Amino acid sequence: MKKINMEMRRFFLGITTACNMDCTYCFVNPTNEVMKIRSAKKYVKYFLSSGGDDKLLYFYGGEPFLFPKLIQEVDSFLVEEAKRRNKKTSVLIVTNGTLLSEDISDYLKKYSPKLMVSLSGTHDSHDLFRKIKGETGSFGRITENLKTFLRLVKEKDLWVSYTIHPKMLDNFYKDLDYLLKLGFANIHIEPVQFTEKVHWNKYQLESFEKTIEKFFGQIQKNIEKGIFIFNSKIIRDIEIMFGIAPQDDFLYSVYNNLRAWPGDRLAFSHFLINLEEKRELPNDIAENYGKSIEIGRSGSKKARAGERVWGIYDAQCRKFAKDVMIKAQKNKQFQRYIKECLTRAI
Ligand code: SF4
Repeated sequence: MKKINMEMRRFFLGITTACNMDCTYCFVNPTNEVMKIRSAKKYVKYFLSSGGDDKLLYFYGGEPFLFPKLIQEVDSFLVEEAKRRNKKTSVLIVTNGTLLSEDISDYLKKYSPKLMVSLSGTHDSHDLFRKIKGETGSFGRITENLKTFLRLVKEKDLWVSYTIHPKMLDNFYKDLDYLLKLGFANIHIEPVQFTEKVHWNKYQLESFEKTIEKFFGQIQKNIEKGIFIFNSKIIRDIEIMFGIAPQDDFLYSVYNNLRAWPGDRLAFSHFLINLEEKRELPNDIAENYGKSIEIGRSGSKKARAGERVWGIYDAQCRKFAKDVMIKAQKNKQFQRYIKECLTRAI
C-alpha cells in the first residue's frame, strides 16, 4: 500500500460564525459565536505538536477581521510556541475584505500574514451575491480597501478568492482577467457547491469547463513569457505529484483538513458543519486521524450537483499540473514556475 504523508500541514481556525455580510450562498450558520482564546490556544498547541515542521494556520469564519485583536493574540502565541518547538509557521487570513481598521493595519504590518480576499470579479458579478448587511453590495468597499492590502501585504502572500456561481458564467473569463489586472497573481477559484440553493445544469457545467480551459491555457502561454499566475488547486496538484501533499488531499482527510469552530466543534470540511446530515468529528480526533472521507457521496441529488463542477475543476487542474511538469523537463520558465508554486502553497 502506498504510504500517505499524514503530517498535519494546515489547520483551520473558524474563529467566528459572525459576519458583517450576507452572501446568498454562504455555508456558515450565522450564530454569532466567537472562539474563546483558550480554545484557540489549545488548537494551536495541538497543531504544533502534530507531525511536520512546516505549518500553516488559517483564520476564517464568518469574518475573522471582526476580531483583529483575537487574531493578533493567537498569532503571537503561535509564533512563540513555534519558536520553542523549532517549527516554521505561517498564517493565512481568509477575509471578505470589507473591514479595515487601525487594528487590522497594525496587525498586517507587524505579523505579515498571508491574506486571501474574497472578490468575485467585476462589480456586476461580485455584487450579485456578495452584499454587506443592509447594503446593496460590497464591491466598492473591497476595491477601496484593496489599495491598503496591496500596500501592506507582499504580492506573493496576497490571494484573491473568486467564487463562481452558475449565474456568473457569462462574465467568468472577464472576471478572472479583471482580477489579474487589479494586481493579484494568486487566484483561488471556488465553484459554489454542496448547497441545496444552487444547481449546475449540463450547459452551465460545459460553459464552466470551457472557460477554465481557456483561462488555464492563457496562464500557460504567460509562463512561456515569464509572467506567472498561480492557482491554489494547481499548486496542490503539483505538490501531490512531488509527493509533498498526499494523493487524497481533497477527500477531506482529518489530518489535512481539520477545522475547529467556536464551541469546540470539529469538522474536516467547512461544508460539514452546516449540512443537514451533520458529520462533525466525534471528540476522539486520534481515532479518525488517518481517515479520508468523501463527503459528496450522500445527500440529495441537488446538493450533490457540486460534485460534478468540482470534478471538472479538479480534472482541469490536474491536467495543468501534469502539462507544466512535462514542459519543465525542457523549459526553464516552467522549471522556475514550479519552484515558485511550491513557495506559494496554501
Ligand atoms: S463573507 Fe463569507 S462568511 Fe460572510 S456571509 Fe459571505 S460567505 Fe458567509
